[in-house]
Amino acid sequence: MTVCWICREDEANSGEHKWPSSVMRRIPDEWSELVHGRTDGTRFHTQGPNSQNLKQPVLCLRCNNQRTQRQDRALDAFLRYVLDHEEEVWTTRRVPLNFLPEHSVFDLYRAFLKLEFSRFHADGVPIAPAVADFVAGGDDWVAANGFVRVQLRAVENFDFLGLTYPWETDAPLFQNPLFITNQIGFGWFSIHYVYAPEVLPELPWPIWDLDVTPLRSCVLTEGLQPVPLL
Ligand SMILES: [Zn+2]
Repeated sequence: MTVCWICREDEANSGEHKWPSSVMRRIPDEWSELVHGRTDGTRFHTQGPNSQNLKQPVLCLRCNNQRTQRQDRALDAFLRYVLDHEEEVWTTRRVPLNFLPEHSVFDLYRAFLKLEFSRFHADGVPIAPAVADFVAGGDDWVAANGFVRVQLRAVENFDFLGLTYPWETDAPLFQNPLFITNQIGFGWFSIHYVYAPEVLPELPWPIWDLDVTPLRSCVLTEGLQPVPLL
């Protein structure tokens, strides 16, 4: 049986969407093909938002529902905020994280991590227990922060996509020390991850902003690799 990566106890029989279903529902009708993949290089061509390969059975029902409901709601509200303030966010290259009093910034980070680590788990990447415990609602964000960092980005050459089109980069996986980077996109807005399951590599680690975060500008190459701009 495949075990849920969050609780590490129960059977993973609940599908986590690679992009939130609220995002998939906003994809325009003319949307025809989404290319996404795994860290081993396998690529999927998805014809529509209900394709099975967009759902990863990596969580138990409890972890996918009750245990992470607040997190999912915070992410939905955040993406809705960015959509509703698209021009302002694009122009200022800044986005507030503590934007609504009923959502905690930590729930937003938990949701960012749930999105990414569900991909990693489906690809067989080891997940640091500190990260799983934090996503489940634990308070030790500093411990989680020791393994993974998140940076929000504006993808300068994807502005024509608006905020609906989902995409992800191939996740480069570097050995010795092992670290992985990946970027999950919503049109021109994206979430970039650096993850080191064991040893902290010598890298310019992004910090976690807790109030307002600047969006770092980047461009995506034709091979879908993100290149940060100064
Ligand atoms: Zn679970």
